[in-house]
Amino acid sequence: MRILLVEDEDRIASFVAKGLIAEGHTVERATGVSEGAAMGVSRDYDLVLLDLLLPDGHGRDVLAGVRAAKPELPVIVLSALGEIDDKVDLLDMGADDYLTKPFSMRELSARVRASVRHGAAASHVVTIRDLTLDTHTRVAKRGGRSADLPSREFALLEYLMRHAGQVVTRQQLLDAVWGFDFDTGSNVVDVYVGYVRRKLDEPGRPSAIETVRGAGYRVPS
Ligand code: CA
Repeated sequence: MRILLVEDEDRIASFVAKGLIAEGHTVERATGVSEGAAMGVSRDYDLVLLDLLLPDGHGRDVLAGVRAAKPELPVIVLSALGEIDDKVDLLDMGADDYLTKPFSMRELSARVRASVRHGAAASHVVTIRDLTLDTHTRVAKRGGRSADLPSREFALLEYLMRHAGQVVTRQQLLDAVWGFDFDTGSNVVDVYVGYVRRKLDEPGRPSAIETVRGAGYRVPS
């Protein structure tokens, strides 16, 4: 991974960089808000590690700049104990995680790994067995055969695939796909699952979407 480290203290920066480089990552360092924001916006990174108290301002300004330009780039805040009140603010602003100084390399590696998993989960191509969804091109495929899914059907399948292996209730699907207080007695979910199945399923093969009786639906993982 390419990691941007925004940290003004040399001692902490070298400890973090050394550890991450030993794990095979590439680390570039910025020492202040303006440098950090400029690098974060203009260069390609997989993760940003962000200190809060910087010589030319507050880390939240780096976060705001990076978030505006790259909504999906994970940002982990490295905050000292005195800065702990900012924690909720920062998570609200879109930081993905935070670590309280002093932290061990083991803790940091665990958070970095978690951010990678999170990033992978949010990838624009989702593949589960013979199903593939590309959320950029909006193409759904089963076994190489493309299906044309209108946006609700696409969103329904995407939600089930991102939760593959789990039973997803009708209410979860209503909340995720319709996004408002739909009448829970409505069979709209079942109707849409039917539409998706008609486009993806082939006679004699198990359905792409399993019905879990009395519970909901599942895309097997
Ligand atoms: Ca600092």
